[in-house]
Amino acid sequence: MNRILIAEDESRIVSFLEKGLKANGFVTTVAKDADETLNLVLSAHFDLLLLDLGLPKQDGLEVLEQLRGQGATLPIIILTARDDINNKVAGLEGGADDYVTKPFRFEELLARIRLRLRTSQFQPESNKVTTQLQVGNLILDLRTRKVILSGKEIDLPAKEFSLLETFMSHPEQVMTREQLLDRVWGFDYDPGSNIVDVYIGYLRKKLGSKLIRTVRGVGYCLNL
Ligand code: CA
Repeated sequence: MNRILIAEDESRIVSFLEKGLKANGFVTTVAKDADETLNLVLSAHFDLLLLDLGLPKQDGLEVLEQLRGQGATLPIIILTARDDINNKVAGLEGGADDYVTKPFRFEELLARIRLRLRTSQFQPESNKVTTQLQVGNLILDLRTRKVILSGKEIDLPAKEFSLLETFMSHPEQVMTREQLLDRVWGFDYDPGSNIVDVYIGYLRKKLGSKLIRTVRGVGYCLNL
């Protein structure tokens, strides 16, 4: 059973979310402000956080930053009425996995929750489930979120980790920009955006310039 923390102060939205999520078999807990959200995520186990940006006491973006800063790895979907692009980018750069703008259809949110839970969980029934991806001398530990290159541990923020994970899950495959946007950022990003190229640059800087090969006119491919 998946446990979802709803960080939202508007009771109308809370009851709408609780009702829908419970009907779909989720266990829900509600946090009504920023402090409660931080305490709950850092002290109990949740499989996913729905985070309103307009929370009392502290802004949701600050909550996000603190959670990621303290090592919380659970998937986080931002819920907000602020649909401007700056907040969207700030949320994603701050380590959110996805973004839903109010008002939203419950079915859409549910699909995004399920997608995030599927891609974040790797240890359900058996211990034999793969928790590490290895290509050449590069190891990605999906459980501890650690990256080890030639025996050396390298810290990667959430989005860079997801991007590398996408490549390592498809080691022989050339990935297009659209595929990477879809898998890592998980929603219709502006196709003119250069965010994929920027993040590929970050990975090359940290893991070596030859790690990812540019396939001209097509996309990118792991080069190990
Ligand atoms: Ca609010």
